Amino acid sequence: MPVQHHTTPIDDAHWEGEELARDDTHRYVWLWYGSNIRLIAIPHGPEGDWSFDHGWCYPRDPELVAKAVRDWDSDTQDEPAGWHKRPTHPARRAPRRDDNPHYNRARCEHGSYFLDDGCRVINCRDIQEHEERALSTRGTA
Ligand SMILES: [Zn+2]
Repeated sequence: MPVQHHTTPIDDAHWEGEELARDDTHRYVWLWYGSNIRLIAIPHGPEGDWSFDHGWCYPRDPELVAKAVRDWDSDTQDEPAGWHKRPTHPARRAPRRDDNPHYNRARCEHGSYFLDDGCRVINCRDIQEHEERALSTRGTA
């Protein structure tokens, strides 16, 4: 089943947020989170009462988050667009991610396609790890 987008968000009293969409495995709910908005992927079933699998931080703009989710095909796209921090690990992988390899290029925890574009955050951990890996494989051939 492809993702279902709700025309009107569904109140989620338990998580104190609004559900924007759902698919076979998760519900996608946004909530106020400190000075940001957090969009979370809550698994169906009892574990969804107390945990979520993926989270993305957005600026405090509910319309931006609603649009990002509306434009997102969770079936072929790993993650929605427009966030600036991914507090969860590992990154989500879409079930049919091979259909859209360009969109699904590796992103760092700040949402940048860091292998192509770098990252605006100084000392981005993903870039540092990538560089360390590159160094450690050098000279082994
Ligand atoms: Zn980064």
